[in-house]
Amino acid sequence: MSRLAIMGGAKTVTSEDGDMFAWPIVNKAMEDTVVNVLRDRNMSGTDITKKFERQFADWHGMKYAVGCSSGTASIQSAMYAVGVGAGDEIIAPSITYWASCTQALTLGASVIFADIDPETLCIDPKDIENRITKRTKAIVVVHYLGMPADMDSIMAIAKKNNLKVIEDVSHAHGALYKGKIVGSFGDASGFSLMTGKAFAIGESGIMLTNDRTAYERALLLGHYERHKEISTPELSQAAGIPWGGYKYRMHQMSSAIGLEQLKKFPSEMAEINTAMNYFWDMLEGVPGLGSHRPAKDSGSTKGAWYAPHGLYKSEELGGLSVKRFCDAVSSEGSPASPGCNSALHQHPLFSSVDVYGHGRPTQNAFQSPGIDNSQDRIKLPVSDGIQERTFNIPWFKHFRKEVIEQHAKAFMKVAENYRELLPGDEKISAGQGQWALTARKS
Ligand SMILES: *Cc1c(COP(=O)(O)O)cnc(C)c1O
Repeated sequence: MSRLAIMGGAKTVTSEDGDMFAWPIVNKAMEDTVVNVLRDRNMSGTDITKKFERQFADWHGMKYAVGCSSGTASIQSAMYAVGVGAGDEIIAPSITYWASCTQALTLGASVIFADIDPETLCIDPKDIENRITKRTKAIVVVHYLGMPADMDSIMAIAKKNNLKVIEDVSHAHGALYKGKIVGSFGDASGFSLMTGKAFAIGESGIMLTNDRTAYERALLLGHYERHKEISTPELSQAAGIPWGGYKYRMHQMSSAIGLEQLKKFPSEMAEINTAMNYFWDMLEGVPGLGSHRPAKDSGSTKGAWYAPHGLYKSEELGGLSVKRFCDAVSSEGSPASPGCNSALHQHPLFSSVDVYGHGRPTQNAFQSPGIDNSQDRIKLPVSDGIQERTFNIPWFKHFRKEVIEQHAKAFMKVAENYRELLPGDEKISAGQGQWALTARKS
C-alpha cells in the first residue's frame, strides 16, 4: 500500500462530502407543516402532539406516550412515572450522556453506576447484580450508540429483584433486540428527539409506557394542561398544578415535523443500515478494529446508527495508541477521534456536590445516616479504560459505495501500516472523553 498521508503520502479519501453526512434530511412536507403550525398560531397546543404520540406509540406497540419538551424531561418523567423517589437508588451505566440518569437527583434518589460490557458498550448485566441493594428501585438501560442492550438478561434480573426498568432510547430509535423494537421492553422508556439524534425533530422528547398509572404520573409531573386525563383518585385529588413544578409540553412545530419524519424514517434507517454494514463488512478481519454492531443473524439491529463507533484493539497493532491511530486516519481524509462519553462516576456531582443546600451531597441527601453512595471511589474497569478502546467512525446517511469504500480504505491503510506509526507514537492518552458527543454537520 502507498505511504501514509500523515507521513506525507497521498490522502485516501478524495471524494467531496456533499450531503453524505447532512442530518436530518429535511423535505418539503416538513417545511410546509412547520409553516402551517405558525400560521395557525398553534405552537403551544396539544392536538398535533397527541396525533404524534399515538403514531409513535403504535410504532413501538405501546399503549401510552407523553410528548415532552426534551429527552431529558422524558427520562425524568419515566423515573417519576415508575415511582423513583426520595432515598431510592437507580442503577445506570457510567458510560452514557448525563441525561440518562442525573435527573434522579431531582427526585431525591441516588445514582449508582454499573460497568459496561466491552463489546456492546451497554450496561453489563453481571455488574448490575453487584450494585443492587434493598434501596434499588430501577435500572436505567441505555441502548448506547445505537446498540441494543442485553434485554433478556436485564429483564430477568429486574424480575428476580422486583426492579423497574427504564430504557433510554435516545441513541437507538428503531433498533431491534431479537426482532422486537427497543423502548418496548421496560416499564417506561424515554427518547431524545433533538436535532443531533437519529429521529431528529427539534428540541423535544417522548416517554412511552404500557402502564396507565405511570402515564398519569408523567402527566402529573409536568403537563398541567392534561390533568383532566388523570383518573387515578390518589393523583387526581390534587391535580391542576404540576406536582413537579415543571412544564414539559412538547412544541407543536416538533410534533408536526415528527408526523412527517415517521413517514420517511423507516426508509432512511434502512439505507443507513446498509451503508454502515457495508463499511464494517469491508473492515471485517482487519487487525485492531472491531465493529460495534449486533451479530448478523441475531435479529438485532442498530436502527439508524446514531454516533457510530468502533472498538479499538491496540494490542493487535503493536500497542499503537488510539490517539495516534485516529490522527493518521484523519490525515487520510476521514475525520476520526478517540473515545466516547466520559465516565459519569468520576464526576463530583455524584459524590460531593450539594446542589440544593441540604448540607450534604445531593447524592446522599435522602439516604439514612451511614449510607454513603459517593461514586468517586468505585472501580468500573471497563468504563475507566474505554476512552483508549473506542473511536468514532463516519455516520453515512446514504449508501454510496465508492465514498464508503474510500473511508473504509483510510482505516484499513492505517491499520495495515501501523508499524510506521509506532516510532512517532507519543502514547498520548485519549483523555477523559466528552460529556456530550458532537456529530459532524456538513
Ligand atoms: C441526548 C440524550 C439525552 C437527552 O436528550 P435531550 O433531548 O438533549 O434533552 C438523554 N440520553 C441520552 C443517551 C442522550 O444522548
